[in-house]
Amino acid sequence: MIVLPNGDVSVCEKVLGVPELTMGNVHSEPLADIWISPKVKNILATPLNRISEACARCENLADCRTGCFALSLSVAGNPYATDPRCWQASYANNPYLREGGGTTDDGADEDAAR
Ligand code: SF4
Repeated sequence: MIVLPNGDVSVCEKVLGVPELTMGNVHSEPLADIWISPKVKNILATPLNRISEACARCENLADCRTGCFALSLSVAGNPYATDPRCWQASYANNPYLREGGGTTDDGADEDAAR
């Protein structure tokens, strides 16, 4: 959390001026009230309709919450997209890593790729 010179309270200085990640303004309400406001809960909750399949399947989702809002916003245009640095998502989305080489006995993976 950061308080900007104009009083806006933001999740992070890297997402200045992003309305959906602005929690409130200390000129209009006390910081303590902002901290416990429903908007903060909404921002910090993980909106399941906006996360990737990789994050939805991830065992770390409750702790990670899709990673860095700013990086995800800058890369994917969605602060709740998978953190672009996440090796776990790369692993989850990569059948060659996830399923023992990405092949099956009947060669279905190779046929699907053609
Ligand atoms: S960003 Fe990576 S570690 Fe975090 S929930 Fe998504 S897949 Fe899991």
